[in-house]
Amino acid sequence: MADSNLDPSISHTSPLIDGNVLVAKALERAGVDRMFGVVGIPVTSLANRAVALGIRFIAFHNEQSAGYAASAYGYLTGKPGVLLTVSGPGCVHGLAGLSNAAINCWPMVMISGSCDQKDFGRGDFQELDQIAAVKSFSKFSVKATDIREIPNCVFQVVDQAVSGRPGGCYLDLPTDVLHQTVTESEAEKLLSDADNSRKQEEPHRLESSEIEKAVSTLRHAERPLIVFGKGASYSRAENELKKLVESTGIPFLPTPMGKGLLPDNHELAATAARSLAIGKCDVALIVGARLNWLLHFGESPKWSSDVKFILVDISKDEIELRKPYLGLAGDAAKVLKLLNKEIKDDPFCLGKTHSWVDSIAKKAKENVLKMEAQLAKDIVPFNFLTPMRIIRDAILGVGSPSPILVSEGANTMDVGRGVLIQTEPRTRLDAGTWGTMGVGLGYCIAAAVASPDRLVVAVEGDSGFGFSAMEVETLVRYQLPVVVIVFNNGGVYGGDRRNPEEISGPFKDDPAPTSFVQGAAYHVLSEAFGGKGYLVGTPDELKSALDKSFSEKKPAVINVTIDPYAGAESGRMQHKN
Ligand code: ADP
Ligand code: MG
Repeated sequence: MADSNLDPSISHTSPLIDGNVLVAKALERAGVDRMFGVVGIPVTSLANRAVALGIRFIAFHNEQSAGYAASAYGYLTGKPGVLLTVSGPGCVHGLAGLSNAAINCWPMVMISGSCDQKDFGRGDFQELDQIAAVKSFSKFSVKATDIREIPNCVFQVVDQAVSGRPGGCYLDLPTDVLHQTVTESEAEKLLSDADNSRKQEEPHRLESSEIEKAVSTLRHAERPLIVFGKGASYSRAENELKKLVESTGIPFLPTPMGKGLLPDNHELAATAARSLAIGKCDVALIVGARLNWLLHFGESPKWSSDVKFILVDISKDEIELRKPYLGLAGDAAKVLKLLNKEIKDDPFCLGKTHSWVDSIAKKAKENVLKMEAQLAKDIVPFNFLTPMRIIRDAILGVGSPSPILVSEGANTMDVGRGVLIQTEPRTRLDAGTWGTMGVGLGYCIAAAVASPDRLVVAVEGDSGFGFSAMEVETLVRYQLPVVVIVFNNGGVYGGDRRNPEEISGPFKDDPAPTSFVQGAAYHVLSEAFGGKGYLVGTPDELKSALDKSFSEKKPAVINVTIDPYAGAESGRMQHKN
C-alpha cells in the first residue's frame, strides 16, 4: 500500500472523496455502464455517485429480479451485469441472481454493502457473513477492508466474471469502508496503479492435430450433427457457425437459448426432427452446450450408444467431466474459425440428397406440417397453440431487428419453444439450465436496457409472471419497450387436477396448491402504474392488442385468458412431479 504521507505525487490539498465515490469511479474505469439493484443502507450514495458518472442505474423493487436482470445483461452484452444490494437480506435476495449467473455460466458482479466491520459479530444492523453466504454461488469473492483496496477489488471482480468460463463474482463493501475518505489525487493514483496491474488471461492454445482430428472425424461421419448452445451464443459464434454449417451441409440443432444463432427456419435445422437427429447421429459436434439433463446427458437411449462427441467448450473442467471422444477447449467462435480454416483446404459437403440430410429434412417437414395443422385451428376458449401462433406471426411481422423473446412457465414455455421462431442471435431468454421461474421481468428489463433498438416480448405463464410482477412498475417508470403477454390459466399448470383422494382433511376447502384467483386482472396491474393493459380471450382481441402494443413500443401487459384445463401438469416434465 502506498503511504500517502510519503508519496510526493499525491497532493495533500486536493479535496476528499469517500468510498462510495471511489467505487463509482472504479466501476466506470472498468467499463461498467449499467447497474441493476435496490438501494438502501449503506449503498444509496454509491448508486447516486455511479449515476453522476454516467452509469445508468435501474432501480428495482426486489434484488431477486435485479439479480436476474444483471445475469442476463451479462449474457446479452458479454460485459458483466452489475447488481447492487444492501446488506444482510438484500444480499440474500441477490443470491438468486448470483446463482443464476453461476448455473448459466453468465458474467455478473454482485456488490453488496455490509455492516460496520467493528460491529460484526455483535448483532449489527443487517449483519451477515456475506462472503460465506455467497461462497457456493461465486467464482471469486472479495471484501474491501479499507478504502485503498477498492480499485483493486473492483477490477478483480469485473475481470474474473468474464475470464474463462463466465460466472458470478462478489464484492463486499462494509459501511465503514464506504465512509472512509482519501484525497482525490490519492484516489487517482490508486485507480491507475490498480488498473496497470490488471492481468490478461492467456488463452489455451489448441494443437493443430486436435483440429485435424476433429475435421477428419466430421468428414468421415455418416450421420454428423452440430449442436450449439448458449455458450456459442455468448461467444458470438454465429458467423463461424453459419460458415461451418453451410460449407459442410451438416444438419444442426440449437438448444433452447442457442435458438436464433442460425435461423430456426434454415433448411438444415433439425429442430423439428430432434429425436431422429440425436438418436441416430454418429458424430455430434457440441459447441457451447453441456451434455446435462437438457441434452439427456449424452446417453442412450436418446443418443445412440456409440455416438462420438466432439466437445467445444471454454471450460476444460467441462470437457474432463463429460469425457468426449474429442474435446476442444477454447472460445467457441475461435475454435470454429480454426475448424473452418482446416475444412477450407479440403472442402466437403453432404448435399441435400445425402440420405442423412434428406431423412432429417423429410422428418422435419412432416412434423412441421402436423404442427401447422394444429396451429391453424382457432380454438376458443384458448388452448396454448392458438394464441402462440398469433404471437409468433406478430413477432415475425416486426422484422429486423427482431424482438427479444423472454419466456417462462411450464406449458407456456414448452409450447413456445416449439412454436415461436428465432431468426437472430441472442433473442431468446428462458428459464435456462436451472429451469428457474421468476426470471421474467428481470430478463425483460435487462434485454430492453442491453438492446434499446429492439422490442422485448415476454410470453409468460401466470405463475411465472407472478414471481416478479411488481417490476411492471419498473417497466413503466423507465418507459421500456416491453410487452408482457400473460397466459392466464388461473394457476400453476392451470386448473385443479387433484385426484379425489388428494382432497381431504380439515383444509380440503382451501384452493388447491396449484390454484390462483380465477380471472385475475393482471392487465390492470400495468394500468395501475400508467402502462397499457389488455384483456383478451379471442383471436381478434389478441391480434388487436399485439398490433397496438407492438407499434406503440411502450410497457404493456396483455392478459390472455386460457382454458384452465388445456395443457398438462408439469408441462413436459411430468415424470419428475
Ligand atoms: P445450453 O443450456 O444452451 O445447452 P449450457 O449452459 O448447458 O448451454 O452450456 C454452455 C457451455 O458453454 C458451458 O459449458 C460453458 O462453459 C460454455 N461456454 C461459455 N462461454 C463460452 C465460450 N466463449 N466459448 C465456448 N464455450 C463457452
Ligand atoms: Mg398458469
